[in-house]
Amino acid sequence: MADRIQESVQEPSACVRARRVFAPGWRLRARRWVFAGGKSVTGLIGGHPFFTGWAGTIIATAMAALTYAALYEGRAEELRHAVENSSNIVRIVTSDIARNVELYDLSLRAVVSGAQQPQTWELPATLRQRMLFDRATAASFLGGAYVLDAQGHVKASQSGVLTPGVSLADRDYFVAQQRDPHAGLFISKPYRSRLRQGVLSIALSRRIDAPDGTFAGAALLGVRLEYFEQLIDRIDVGQRGGVFIIMQDGTLLASKPMMPLGIGANYASWHNYKIISRHDTGTFTAHSEADGVLRVYTYAHVDNTPIIVGVAPAVDDILAGWRRRASIALAMTTMFGGAWVAVSWILAFVLRDKVLAQAALQRLALTDPLTGLANRRALDERLNSEWRRAVRLQQPLAVLFLDIDHFKLFNDTYGHGAGDEVLALVAERIASGSRRAVDMTARYGGEEFAVVLPGTPLAGAQKIAEKIRRRVESANLSHSGSRYGRVTVSVGCASCEPPVGGSAAQLLAAADVLLYEAKSAGRNQVHAKEWTGEAGAANAPPAA
Ligand code: GH3
Ligand code: MG
Ligand code: MG
Repeated sequence: MADRIQESVQEPSACVRARRVFAPGWRLRARRWVFAGGKSVTGLIGGHPFFTGWAGTIIATAMAALTYAALYEGRAEELRHAVENSSNIVRIVTSDIARNVELYDLSLRAVVSGAQQPQTWELPATLRQRMLFDRATAASFLGGAYVLDAQGHVKASQSGVLTPGVSLADRDYFVAQQRDPHAGLFISKPYRSRLRQGVLSIALSRRIDAPDGTFAGAALLGVRLEYFEQLIDRIDVGQRGGVFIIMQDGTLLASKPMMPLGIGANYASWHNYKIISRHDTGTFTAHSEADGVLRVYTYAHVDNTPIIVGVAPAVDDILAGWRRRASIALAMTTMFGGAWVAVSWILAFVLRDKVLAQAALQRLALTDPLTGLANRRALDERLNSEWRRAVRLQQPLAVLFLDIDHFKLFNDTYGHGAGDEVLALVAERIASGSRRAVDMTARYGGEEFAVVLPGTPLAGAQKIAEKIRRRVESANLSHSGSRYGRVTVSVGCASCEPPVGGSAAQLLAAADVLLYEAKSAGRNQVHAKEWTGEAGAANAPPAA
């Protein structure tokens, strides 16, 4: 029997032997590199089946977050691009206006300088007309060029028509020059021309001084508002976009689409105008007070003039293409991300089922089906590991070996069915005899059992053995073939404190020897002895 035990505990499986021989060192080292903390990645995943699900979810979420971030960046880029575009348009329009104002001013200066020379007024009318307005004729969108006297009457005109009854003394361009000798170039508000059948115009005026410096009138260029209209007409700012040219005081010169109050109306009280009037240039996003459309306004003042140019494409127009692309990307991300998450979780559940099935199989492989106790294989593994632990920690380790007395006779008398029932009952009594979580009860084979008692010295193990023996006896399972009249067990109890040399198998063999001592001494009793290692084992009586 002792030999049998030795064999079963010590002999490694063929597979383990093969692995020891053939596993080269580099593979071991590589595994250690790859597998952190001695656990392989597969082992790690296998141990946590939901890892795959969570990992898949996290990866999909991260990818979705990246896509959303890229989309958000794309949106910002579209808006930036639109502002850049608007800035370019504003720059082109403002420089066109600035250049034309400069040209108009050159013409005006020429008219002023001609009008201030007394000789001019002595020239014949046609010659004087040519002399005064020669340069003005080159200006585009010119409504008319005039010299006004100090009372606001037309003294000379580019067209030669003088309209004597008409006074322009109330016009802002005249009043400004009359009041301020240093007004310089003045750009008026839009007005309907009295001299040109009510054509909508703005006027550019300069003061004409008399030789003594007093106010002698004003030189005047009327510019048709058409000029501004044709400027913005050519600008494409999308379906719902807007362009406008407005004066510093809020008077509208031109707009597309047309503002509700029309050209010449004052928009100074409008919220967006208030923002525009605060800075020379700028960009902001706001809803239009006219139609409620959200637009990105970019504006700039025309240098040295009270004119402001603004371009405002609608946010919906700017983002239309981006929204199309984004919705496709979002749909794809959601679809593939969702599928990825679903597959990850399906895998996780499949893995979990597999792990559970494996655990169940493993349990079955280590469990004795009749008694539900650990089987011989589990006992060998556990006993070896407890032995190593006892050696390492220098702690005692005890083993009980139990055998039902005259069980062959029991079977012969009551039959194998009853024998099986008794085996299960006795197993239950033995298992409940030891209470600590680290204790282990196993069916060694047939009607033999073993109990491993880690950290238990001989006296304690002996008590437990005696307790188990009494528990089986007190179960009162009648056994006519026994001299005790009931089912009893004999127990061999060996303990080492701590192990010195030898092996777990030798400790178990020592308990086996003691068991047969108990049998020989009359059965239904415990024989216990301190086992002192290999020397002690050698001294122990041979197995029966
Ligand atoms: P001893 O007191 O010396 O141990 O006598 P014994 O009859 O118990 O010992 P022996 O080894 O001669 O007989 C063991 C018997 O245990 C043989 C077999 O009938 C019985 N046995 C072993 N395994 C089972 C089992 O699973 N079920 C049943 N019913 N009986 C078993
Ligand atoms: Mg036996
Ligand atoms: Mg027996």
